Amino acid sequence: MTIQKRIAMVSEHAGPIALLGGVDAGGQNVHLDELSRNLGSLGYAVDIFTRRDDPKLPEVVDWAPGVRVIHVNAGPVQTIPKDDIWPHMAEFTGGMLTFMLRSGARYDLLHGHFWMSGWAVARLRQRLQLPAVQIFHATGITKRHHQGAADTSPPERIAVERRIVNEVDCMIAQCPAEQHELVIDYGADPGRVMIIPSAVNTRRFRPIDRAAARRAIGLPLDDIPTIVYVGRMLPRKDVRNLLYAAAELIHARAMPVRLLLVGGHVSGDPNAGEVGVLQALAAELRISEHTIFFGQRQPDQLYRYYCAADVAVSTPWYESYGLTPLEAMACGRPIIVSAVGGLTFTVQHGQTGLHVPPQAPQHLAAALHDLLSRPDRGAEMGRKARRRVEREFTWATTAHRTAALYESLLNGQTQAVATAEQARSVGERAPWMGD
Ligand code: UDP
Repeated sequence: MTIQKRIAMVSEHAGPIALLGGVDAGGQNVHLDELSRNLGSLGYAVDIFTRRDDPKLPEVVDWAPGVRVIHVNAGPVQTIPKDDIWPHMAEFTGGMLTFMLRSGARYDLLHGHFWMSGWAVARLRQRLQLPAVQIFHATGITKRHHQGAADTSPPERIAVERRIVNEVDCMIAQCPAEQHELVIDYGADPGRVMIIPSAVNTRRFRPIDRAAARRAIGLPLDDIPTIVYVGRMLPRKDVRNLLYAAAELIHARAMPVRLLLVGGHVSGDPNAGEVGVLQALAAELRISEHTIFFGQRQPDQLYRYYCAADVAVSTPWYESYGLTPLEAMACGRPIIVSAVGGLTFTVQHGQTGLHVPPQAPQHLAAALHDLLSRPDRGAEMGRKARRRVEREFTWATTAHRTAALYESLLNGQTQAVATAEQARSVGERAPWMGD
């Protein structure tokens, strides 16, 4: 009889239960959910430890076959910004240990997500003598580089990340750009950084006919070229860039496009966060009647929004990886992305979409004009995009690769898990990384 291996996933602010699309809930929540479910299907028992942010949440939730969510008390039992969680991480780590002692749950391996849980995992690794894997999802150095004074991360973040890099057995990078950050910015040993791309649920995100999709979300069946953005509404996602590009198409190039903006909280208050800023900007650019703010939508509805459009756009200032481009691709739609971070890895320029420089609305307008004036080209890119995700970016594949990493660590191979090819790629500076 094979003994089921137990994995402790640790993700202080992003559990699968959280509503997606809010300010602090996004790709990491999806990642936890999909990876854990797929590891559950492979026979692992996965417990996801996350901070309790609502008194109604029970301590243990049976989430999916083989997957439980364990809510740990740490700090106020309410939603708080993720950058305010750090002072509560000692309590969180203690709460995890207490749960393990009280319930008798024994784990074979620890897997940390984001820097704060990485800190918890590095401490527990020592205490419990267990192998530890870490995935950062985003790093403090890159954030500080792009956000400067607007970065609200605790000042300890980068020093803590350096410690985690030295202490865990292995790190997962989702793409070469993330691997590069870990090795070059943090001095990680390339032999301990494994590239395992994150993925998309290809059953949930699937191509459907554009007319059916439009009917489902209440759009008219006209010929107006339609562009979709899906994601959190944050300044760094730069949806403003898309509004400027749309204004140029509509006013300067006489192409009357429609914008579908999905994500964030729509309140009608112009002072309410990024959506308020975007609404005011749309009015200023005289494109309000071309722009629909849908607000946050649940993941199982999103395929309709992608499929209602002719092209998807995601042009953040920077992006560690980015799941939404994969979702657009899985829906058989071409995507225009800024040439930053993981986006140049998942989207192939000229094949499954187009790359444009970040913060350059004229370039985005030109790329949109190009794709929207040649619908056949866009449709062909969409077909290729779907084939690409089916081949390269399913969560089943991600889980298999993660399981292979776990097994190598459990068999005592704590070093040299990355292939020689991956290790070599680290030294080369890819063109999109800049100086
Ligand atoms: N998302 C969602 N509903 C929304 C907006 C976004 O479910 O209204 C999901 C989206 O489908 C994607 C995730 O949130 O899976 C965002 O992930 P991504 O990696 O693109 O960006 P992040 O939020 O991690 O910066």
